[in-house]
Amino acid sequence: MIPPPHKAEIEIPEMSDLSPLPVKPSVATIASQSESAPLSLDLSHHLSIESRIRQKSLLKVASSYVARDPELLSLAAGLPSPALFPIEKVSATVQVAKHESVRNGLWKCDGLLPDTRRELHKEKDSSLNGQSEYDLSGALQYEQGTGAKQLLTFLKKHTEIVHKPQYRDWDCIMSGGNTHAMETVFRMLINPGDYVLMEEYVFPETAEGLRPIRAKMIGIEMDDEGLRSDSLRQLLEEWDETARGGTRPAVLYVVPTGQNPTGSTMSLRRRKDIYNICVTYDLIIIEDDPYYFLQMSEYVPGADPTVVKVPKTNQEFVSSLVPSMLSLDTQGRVLRLDSFSKVAAPGMRCGWITGSERFVERVLRHNEVGLQFPSGLSMAVLHGMLVEGWGQDGYLDWLVNLRAEYTNRRNALLNAMDKYLPREVCNWVVPSAGMFVWINVDYTKHPRRDNGVEAVEMEIFEAGIENKVLILPGAWFKVNMEARNVFFRATFASVSAQDMALAIERFGEVLRKGFGLYD
Ligand code: PMP
Repeated sequence: MIPPPHKAEIEIPEMSDLSPLPVKPSVATIASQSESAPLSLDLSHHLSIESRIRQKSLLKVASSYVARDPELLSLAAGLPSPALFPIEKVSATVQVAKHESVRNGLWKCDGLLPDTRRELHKEKDSSLNGQSEYDLSGALQYEQGTGAKQLLTFLKKHTEIVHKPQYRDWDCIMSGGNTHAMETVFRMLINPGDYVLMEEYVFPETAEGLRPIRAKMIGIEMDDEGLRSDSLRQLLEEWDETARGGTRPAVLYVVPTGQNPTGSTMSLRRRKDIYNICVTYDLIIIEDDPYYFLQMSEYVPGADPTVVKVPKTNQEFVSSLVPSMLSLDTQGRVLRLDSFSKVAAPGMRCGWITGSERFVERVLRHNEVGLQFPSGLSMAVLHGMLVEGWGQDGYLDWLVNLRAEYTNRRNALLNAMDKYLPREVCNWVVPSAGMFVWINVDYTKHPRRDNGVEAVEMEIFEAGIENKVLILPGAWFKVNMEARNVFFRATFASVSAQDMALAIERFGEVLRKGFGLYD
């Protein structure tokens, strides 16, 4: 059927008009996906007005005619000829991690990269002679809003291996990383003035992305395991529309693994409790999980930080990971955001969103008029590395290697903290995932505590800079205005063990001086 041209005036479709949305998978359905798994619930009543207005791109409709009939001579789409792309070839040298067959359960991390390398090349016409399913002519051309299906198929299989979604009609779509993905799903689910729930300390871009949508943010109290399920339940149970001036929140944003900034990781019990509360109160969960694979092995104080336990097999590795919210989801109420930023490189600007086909279709409509798709050069390199190079197992090998390196770095930071920080005025929880340690400083012992929590925090922060150490203050991450204590976020991601030790020694001096512990 020929689609009608877009109308000038905007009609806001009724929610019932959206049901059912097209449910054809946009990538090849995974053969092993259980046919007996249930379908997701129709949760399209959660879509924002903005999302409901989005229509299929007419130009993408035109290209679907060509896909259906290869003999059709198209003068339709404004696709530049690949012959005129100035880039003829792209080559990259990629590290290859130790294969599971040669891992022996312990890893000596010496900061050195894996000693094996693999060359990858992408040329213009290698798909014509069958050398590549995704060549440079394809990668540099306009792509569907899903991202390259050859890469997406790999990511969908990876998602199935790791998260084993429990309902049948799930799908993935590529994003420009989690910052982009967050903004997309926020706009998809939130109308101006809606309340949104999240951890009381968040990645600042989350709040900065929500503010212009005019979302009202509520931070839920946290403990060592992250967002507290009892506080979440209480808030929803006691919600008073009149007092709050708005309906009960319908969206929960969480970072369940290696939370930024607190470094906390939710146990399986906590995840289940939160999921069940969201079922009871009909909330959509946005699972922003860029640190999922940075789940580290145990910290043994005083032990050699460079010797790290690693899972012998990839199967053991996958089973050792705390199940994601996606893997607990039987209804299609989780939108999971994955990113290559922490497991490959942030500059790839590439990630993917997993959720029910209904929601993924709405993201596709948004991509078509925004991101379009991640950069073809990034997708080409990722495809060469993941699909033509490592394969699913090689990618898991890489993640095991990465996890060991982060464990080593975390151990080095914790050793320095044990050595240099005054325990009389501060404490911390050993992070089991991510890149951050959250230092809780007891401001009630500070000589200028009467100035208030934030004043003490800023004083320590500024004294740190004076003493040549930059550690970020808790206030920068706070959602609710009232701070309960002084916190600082330190990362072990980026600097050498020596520099971490020096920085922590300096921070220790700042605390001792500020709290008058030298006297
Ligand atoms: N979410 C969280 C919790 C993060 O910590 C970060 C990065 N620091 C992001 C999202 C952004 O990641 P990306 O590079 O994929 O946009």
